[in-house]
Amino acid sequence: MNIIFLGPPGAGKGTQAQMICDALQIPQISTGDILRRAMKDGTETGLKAKSYIDAGKLVPDEVIIDIVKERLAMDDCKGGYILDGFPRTVPQAEALETFASIDSVIELDVADQVLVDRLSGRRVCLKCGATYHVSMLNGKTTCDKCGEELIQRNDDKAETVLNRLKVYHEQTAPLTGFYEKKGLLHKVAGDQGIEGTFQAIMKTLGAKA
Ligand code: ADP
Ligand code: ADP
Ligand code: ZN
Repeated sequence: MNIIFLGPPGAGKGTQAQMICDALQIPQISTGDILRRAMKDGTETGLKAKSYIDAGKLVPDEVIIDIVKERLAMDDCKGGYILDGFPRTVPQAEALETFASIDSVIELDVADQVLVDRLSGRRVCLKCGATYHVSMLNGKTTCDKCGEELIQRNDDKAETVLNRLKVYHEQTAPLTGFYEKKGLLHKVAGDQGIEGTFQAIMKTLGAKA
């Protein structure tokens, strides 16, 4: 199954994509993770992306479309995948149609006020992509999965968060209409707790854990 996870920053896309991918044994393609790794490694793409990401803006469509196109052409994507964080603009969605066939779009729905709390407490592992919230860490500062030191993303600071929510409403929210017209859109409440949301997505996908 080729699946898109749509939803504002902090909705739980990364958290849920990782769980669903484990359950279905398919790869999680997170454009945010790819870009953060490129920045950490200091690649040309990373250098190009940094100023946009730090300002809470989207990186240009042509940069991200090529990355996704290349990634989806890899062998491990042949049995399905979850796109987490792509597409984010209508031109990205249109480009995706030229090289992928999407079966289902899951939109995680969460109120803006909840998103601000989630983002300001988010801690991430740059090595394996795992995501945590300070409220679950009990003071722990390393990744349960791989032992790496956890960090707060630069773009999770308060000023940038509000800008990212604005960018989401202006540039990404119109995608719900785009996929609704194609009959692919499924809305799932993203404020049910991590396990409850997982169950709701699995049910929507008609998948068994
Ligand atoms: P996104 O990828 O959509 O930006 P994340 O999966 O990174 O969202 O989640 C954002 C923050 O919210 C993280 O700190 C995560 O641990 C927390 N979180 C995710 N899902 C839930 C949930 N259902 N209830 C409460 N907190 C959650
Ligand atoms: P979020 O928590 O907002 O879901 P992501 O990790 O998906 O965060 O993305 C972080 C940043 O990376 C975005 O604010 C944006 O600058 C950049 N980015 C990620 N995916 C895309 C994309 N599909 N198009 C443009 N920019 C992207
Ligand atoms: Zn890790």
